[in-house]
Amino acid sequence: MAKIRPVARYALKRQKYKGCISKLLSGDCEWGDKDLKPLKDEIRKLLRVEQNEVCPYCQRIIIPERRNLNEHIEHVLDKSKAKYKKFSLTASNLILACHGCNVEKGQKDLLNSGTPAPIYLRLIDLPFIWPHPCVDDMVRCVHKAPGPVYSPIEGSGKEAEAERMIKDLKLNDTRNIESRYGRLVERRDRIMTLLGRLARINDEKSRRRMAPLILENEKVAAALN
Ligand SMILES: [Zn+2]
Repeated sequence: MAKIRPVARYALKRQKYKGCISKLLSGDCEWGDKDLKPLKDEIRKLLRVEQNEVCPYCQRIIIPERRNLNEHIEHVLDKSKAKYKKFSLTASNLILACHGCNVEKGQKDLLNSGTPAPIYLRLIDLPFIWPHPCVDDMVRCVHKAPGPVYSPIEGSGKEAEAERMIKDLKLNDTRNIESRYGRLVERRDRIMTLLGRLARINDEKSRRRMAPLILENEKVAAALN
């Protein structure tokens, strides 16, 4: 995965969102407020295309999960920390992560302890403890071997950061691998059932619905390897 471009800015620049953005930044509403939903939906759509639906941390396809549909916008610098709240809607602080990585990351501070809170998010200057998906090309920092088994790539210049991320996200933890694998298998089975049902109906509408499912099925199959 190449560096993620901060595409969220296209949504954030829209006039119609100015009101809810300033409400969030001034503390008049929370991240979960329903006023922010249209903006978050738009950001999510932009990021999904930009990231090709792949989680930058584990490099696996992000499976849409109903319980998580509204929540998997990930803030690299955690929005729940007062010092980073001002970056809640900073494009280069927003990525999509899979549910597993999102949960493991939790409220972890990705800046070295003792680093003062930045005034502006000038990513290049900051001592992040993991590779940053908008600064670093994650596939050049972390190697994902079939299994998958993760390891830092020598010569990337981010070996220590990659190692730390692999450890913190428990990417090589057997239970984690199994549960992620299980979710992919579940998703594949659900797609296959749906495809079978649509193929039996075989009218124009069902054929239209099959096309994106076939694409997703290919991605899931690739992620299973
Ligand atoms: Zn992930």
